[in-house]
Order: sequence, then C-alpha cells, then structure tokens
Amino acid sequence: MSHDTSTGPKDATSATCRHNASMMDALPFGDTQDFVDAKRGFIATLPDVEIRNDQGRVVWSLRDYAFLAHEEAPATVNPSLWRQARLNMHNGLFQVSDRIHQVRGFDLSNMTIIEGQRGLIIIDPLISTETARASLELYWAHRGKRPVTAVIYSHSHVDHYGGVRGVVDEEDVHAGNVTIIAPDRFLEEVTSENVIAGLPMSRRAQFQFGPTLFRGPRGQVDAGLGKVTSRGTVTLIPPTLIIKEPIEIHRIDGVEIVFQLTPDTEAKAEMHMFFPDLRALNLAENATHNLHNVYPIRGAQVRDALAWAKYINEARQSYAPKADVVFAQHHWPVWGNGRVLDFLAKQRDAYKYLHDQTVRLMSHGLKAAEIAEQIRFPKSLEQEWSVRGYYGTLSHNSKSVYQRYIGWYDANAANLNPHPPVERAKRALTYMGGAARVIAQAREDFAAGDYRWVADVMSQVVFAEPDNMEARALAADAYEQLGYQAESATWRNSYLLGAHELRNGTPAIIARAPVSPDVVKALTVPLFFDYLGVRLNGPKADGKRIVINWTISDVNERYVLNLENAALTYLADRHADGADATVSLERAVLSQLLMGRVTLEDAVARGLVVITGAAGKLSELFGLLDEFRLMFPVVLPQEPETP
Ligand SMILES: [Zn+2]
Repeated sequence: MSHDTSTGPKDATSATCRHNASMMDALPFGDTQDFVDAKRGFIATLPDVEIRNDQGRVVWSLRDYAFLAHEEAPATVNPSLWRQARLNMHNGLFQVSDRIHQVRGFDLSNMTIIEGQRGLIIIDPLISTETARASLELYWAHRGKRPVTAVIYSHSHVDHYGGVRGVVDEEDVHAGNVTIIAPDRFLEEVTSENVIAGLPMSRRAQFQFGPTLFRGPRGQVDAGLGKVTSRGTVTLIPPTLIIKEPIEIHRIDGVEIVFQLTPDTEAKAEMHMFFPDLRALNLAENATHNLHNVYPIRGAQVRDALAWAKYINEARQSYAPKADVVFAQHHWPVWGNGRVLDFLAKQRDAYKYLHDQTVRLMSHGLKAAEIAEQIRFPKSLEQEWSVRGYYGTLSHNSKSVYQRYIGWYDANAANLNPHPPVERAKRALTYMGGAARVIAQAREDFAAGDYRWVADVMSQVVFAEPDNMEARALAADAYEQLGYQAESATWRNSYLLGAHELRNGTPAIIARAPVSPDVVKALTVPLFFDYLGVRLNGPKADGKRIVINWTISDVNERYVLNLENAALTYLADRHADGADATVSLERAVLSQLLMGRVTLEDAVARGLVVITGAAGKLSELFGLLDEFRLMFPVVLPQEPETP
C-alpha cells in the first residue's frame, strides 16, 4: 500500500472523529452564559476588523476567520476549542460599566479605557501601534474625542505595551501631560525576556500562536487567549510612575485606583487594579477564561503557580466583595457579585490544585511525564469552562511545576547522559530493524489511532534519516490528527505547524524582527554586554585574551570588558590599566550596533565609535560573535554546527 505523501492538510480520521464527538458528551455545552457575557455592552465595530499599517500591509484581520460562523465544530477541530474560538470572535467596543469600556478582538489582548476627569486612562495598548490606534479611534467615534491622560501597563508582555505609540505621543509624556504607569521591575523584565533568550522564543512562539499557519478548519482557528498576534509596529515608552509597594493607592485623572502587585504570577512584573468608586476589579492576566500557562510552550522561565493562587485569593478577599464586575486584559468580563466570587474561587483553586497535586505526586516519586498523564481536575473544575486548557494545559503545566522545583532530570541515571537525539535515533533504528520496518509497524498503529506513539517513533526515524520523505509524511499525519484532537489552541498550533514543516521543510520567512528598536533603546548597558556574551562563539574565542575599556559618553558610564577563557565578563564604573583599547561612543550607537543597523567598521569610519589603542582588538572581538538565524529547524534535526 502506498502512502499519501501530498503536502496539504488531510481530513480527520475516524479515530479523531470519535475523539472529538466524545467531547460533546463530556462538557456542559448547554451552558451558554459566556456567549451572553462576550456580547454584553456591545457598541460598535469595524468591518472584518481589517487594520493596515502605513504601507498598506494588513497587520490584523478577522476576515479569514469567517468559517467560525458555523456553530457546529467540523471533525478537524476539538468542539471545546471551537467554542472558545467562536467566543474570541466577539469584537469591537464594549461597555463594561458606566465609565469603563473595552476594545476586544482588535488584537490578541484587550484595550481597557477608563473615563477620567480630563480624559482617558488606557490599560494595555495592545501589541502594535496600528491596532491600538484603531481601537482608540473606534472609542472616539462612539464616545467622543478626549485626550489620553494616562497609560497603564498591567504587565511586562508585549501584548500589553507594544502599541503605546499608537495612543500616546512621547512628547506629551515628557511634558507631563500623560503618566505611564507600570508594576515594579517592568522594564527589567521587558528587556531581559526579549533580549537574552529572545530569538529562540520568537521562533518557538510561531508554534504557540500559529501566526504563519493558514486559517481554517484544518489550520489555525485560535490562540486560546484570543485569535492570534497582530503583526504591526511594536513600540515602548518607559514608565514614569512605577508601582513599588505591594499595595499602592493613586488618584489618576480623578479616578481612584488600588494597585496590587502580583510578582511571579503570569508575568514576573504584573499587577491587579481595583477601582473602588467604579466597583470594578481588573485582574490583568491572572484570571482569564482559560487555564493559563505556568510555562508557555514558546519557552520561558517557569512561573509560580503558588503565588498565582495566593494573589487571586487576596484580590478576591479584599476587593471582589466590593466589585460588581471583574475583567481582564484578555477575554470577556464576569458580572454580578456572586458570579465574580465564584469565578475567582475557581481560578484560584485551578492554580492551587495544579501546584499542590503535582508536588504531591512528585513526592510519591512520580516523574513529570507520569504526573502529566495522571493529573486531572476534580469534577467541579473539570466542568468549568473558564479553567479548560485552551492556552495552558494541566499536562504541560504540571511538568513545569515539577521543573520549577526539581528541574529537568528525573533522577533515573539512564536519563543522565543518553546519546543526543540524532545519535540515539540512529542506534534505535538499527535495533528495530531499519526505517522501512518501523514505518510499516507505525502505519498499523496509525490505523489503530495511536497517534501519540506514531508521532514519537516517527520523529526518531526523521531524526535518523531526515531525507526519508515517507517517514516525514507519516510523522506529519500523526501530528496533524493530534492537532485536530487538541483542546488547547497552543497544542493544536504546535502540532499543525510541525506537520507543515515536516511536509514542506523549514521555511526561510521572517515574521518580525525579534527585538523592537524601542526595547533595544531601553536596555541597560550591562544587559547589552550580557547579550554580547551569549553571542560569543566559545570555540572560536579559545585562547584569546582581549581587554577593552568602554566609555558611554553621553550617559557618562564606564566599563571594562574582559575576554578570558572564552568567557566575556565586565565590571562597571572603571577602566583597566593596560587595556588593549579604549572605546568611546554614545548610547544610541550601541543600539545601532546591536540591531545591525551599522557595522563596527562603518561606525568607526563615520566617527560614531572612537577607539584609542589597538583598534584591531575590538574588531577581533566582534569577529568572534555569532549571528543567529530565526528560522532554525525544530521538527527536523539541526545541521551540525560548523565552527
Ligand atoms: Zn497577554
């Protein structure tokens, strides 16, 4: 029997049809309260919410999601995810309460607009300037044009600050007309998460959100938190008021706001906001209508599920009794004091249960994969739509709680130092009697619907023999059915993009430059040197000794950078005697060098960088830095590093 090796997506198999149909009986689809809430207070929207940048390129559109108009899920989408994908289609300007509005469905996140005395307080200006601007203009068109008096960044993720220049002119911030408010350590977290490990996270984020996948019943349908990430201009204006105390109360444009810091929850720098006069509670991204990620599969440091539950509990105790509505920076609000308390109790307990039961099973000696297989919510949470795993899952979240406490190693010495994937796969394949035999057996398991095993074993064949197109096709077919069955949007996107790249190879396209110029501008000089350190090619640097004094002339900072033992270190506030060279430049030139806008040679030639001493040593150092390639292979093996 020949196998279909066509590159397009396939239909659902009968096993997938059965799996997805079974969800209809397992979950309370008769409960449609979320649909009522998602459309409550609707005022107006834009046709297809199609938003373009200055060059006319579409950076956001819901047009390609028109297929979600059908109430019934196709066989290729888990019905629970289909429901969430339909809820996330609600778009436009919505009234939350008297002086609170939200624009939803104009990006992955929500923009919240509070009406103050002089003007508008904006919470979270989306990812891109274009989508943020369109949201503000939609508000103005229906509620009247008023100036923006404050912007609040609820936390340090790009979907909560990137569009700020679409709603605020930096001149007005400098003139004191606009306050920019953020939680403690906001800027540090923005820069560290986007820079040091920013590149691999960007590539991996393609698998989590699926921006490059086609939209459709066999493609991307949602991202769990919202439809997808917008692809416009990402900016940042640094905060002018930083919330540093656990609780701070401020009157912003006449509106009293109680800020509650929630460090180490959904983001390392995050905060809740309570509006006592408006009887409204905003939980940033800590209480949304899905189980969130203690570890997003794009890659990140694992978050603290225990702190997460604790801060929701405190907000529920202190503020929820005085709130008529709770809302967040994704999804739709929950109204009515009783429902607010119930919603927050379930959110709190979902993270607490996840944490405690993982640690309990870990303490019985179970390994991460075994815990992930076994852990299930109690019935009261399992039947609760707002903690279903559309974004995070109990499976990968429990592995992450394990990792946070005791790390990647399961203490079985067999797993301490096995061969790496390609070498291991080659040996396994030989023992199993070669690729043809493995493929034949795997095809039987595919027919029986064991896609998890087929994906696993075929990935080994692909890593041993990356040019074996039959193996790649069968692996892709298994990934695809797993994607069709997934309730989690992020799992679906990962499986479907994996299948696509197995069939078509690793693409060369670049979705977006990994770091925005505004973020680079906000970097501290030490972080710039940390970033140079991770670009240093160790083997190439072996045996080199280079010492460079740096003067950042306009900000009057001095550093000494030391290359020794193939490691780059630095000390601040000093220059070394006997350094090879002294480099003097302005802070902005560092940004240009970092973003590759100018080469070191050009910068020297143009007088932007002045070097005294052995100028060749600085060029030698820059020659030891690697350039990174965004589109590295993920489901196919890496080509061996060529030094
Ligand atoms: Zn977000």
